[in-house]
Amino acid sequence: MNSTLRTIRGFVATRNRSVLLACASLVLLSACGTTAAVHTAPVKPLVVMPNGAEIVHVAPSKSSTDDSCDPTASLAPPTIMPTPGNMPRGSYMAQILARGILTVGVDDNTYLWGYRDPATDLPKGFDVDMLQQVSQAIFGSPGHIAYVIVPNAERWQYVQSRKVDILAETMTITCDREKHVDFSSVYYEAGQSILVPTNSDITGKQDLAHKRVCAPAKSTSLQNLANLDEHIQLWAAPSNTDCLVMLQQGQVDAISTDDTILQGYAAQDPNTKLVGGTFHDEPYGMAISKLHPDFTRFVNGVLARVTTDGTWNSIYASNIFANTGIPAPALPAARYR
Ligand code: GLU
Repeated sequence: MNSTLRTIRGFVATRNRSVLLACASLVLLSACGTTAAVHTAPVKPLVVMPNGAEIVHVAPSKSSTDDSCDPTASLAPPTIMPTPGNMPRGSYMAQILARGILTVGVDDNTYLWGYRDPATDLPKGFDVDMLQQVSQAIFGSPGHIAYVIVPNAERWQYVQSRKVDILAETMTITCDREKHVDFSSVYYEAGQSILVPTNSDITGKQDLAHKRVCAPAKSTSLQNLANLDEHIQLWAAPSNTDCLVMLQQGQVDAISTDDTILQGYAAQDPNTKLVGGTFHDEPYGMAISKLHPDFTRFVNGVLARVTTDGTWNSIYASNIFANTGIPAPALPAARYR
C-alpha cells in the first residue's frame, strides 16, 4: 500500500472516531434532559479508489494463447561458462563487469517476489534473489547491483530501451512480449488463480461473471479474464498491491492474477483465501534486450546452475515457504531453441 492510501485510510478511521464521539455527546445531552436529536443514520463511507485504478474493457483475444512462437524455448547457454570476474572479451557481460554494476528492474510492492524490505529499505524477494545470482556469476559477489523500480505496465519497455540490463518481475513469457525483448529460460512456473474474502461465495472461475474483478494493468491476467468470460467487470490497477486495497475496501469482489502474487496477498491478509486452483499457465522469464543475446545465453547458464545445485530451492524456501508454508512446485526442464 502506498503512503497516500495509508494516510487516507488513517483519515477514514479518524473521521469515523470523531463522528462516534459526536454521537456520544448527543446521547449524553439527551440523557441530561435536553431536546437534542440523536443522529443514528449511518455515516456514508468515504470511498477512495487506489491511485489510478480504472474499469477497463478488454476485448477477448487469442494473443495470450498465441502459438506463433515457442515462448518458453530460450537461447542455449555457452558450453563452458566463464568464471566470475573473467567475462569474455567483447561480450555484454564484460561491459557490465567493467562498469562495476548490474542494473536490474524489479517491483517494489509485490510481497514475497519484489517488495521494499522495511528494515533495510532495499528490494527483497524471490525475483531479487534470483537477480543477485546473476551479479554473483559476473562479479563473484551478489551485491554489484543498481535496482530500478519498474512499473508493472512498462516492464518490456524498460528492457527494450535498455534502462535496465535485465528485469525479473513476475513476468510471464508470451509471444507478444517476445516481439520486444528476449526471455531467459523459465525460472518459475506460476498459474492464474483467484483471491476472495474468506466469506465470499465465489469458489472458482465459473462464478466470476458479472463480478468486479481486479488485476494488474497490462497483465496477462486481464487478458485471460477477458478471454474467459465477457461478463466479468474488469478493474485494472496500476500496481499489484492496489488490487489488495480494493478488495479490502469492498470495491471489487475478487482479484485474479498469478497464484504467486495472490499467495503474497493472503500472507498479508488472513481475511482472504485462494479459490478454484489455477486456470492458466504463467511461466516466468527474466527479460533482456534483444541486442544482447550473449547475455541471455549467459543468464541461462546461471539459471541452469542455480536450478540444479540447490540454490533455487533455498531461495524458494527463504522467500516463499517460510512465509506461506506452500511447498515448492516442480520447475520444468529448461528448453532451448
Ligand atoms: N505474470 C503476469 C504478467 O506478467 C501477471 C502478473 C503481473 O503482471 O505481475 O502479466
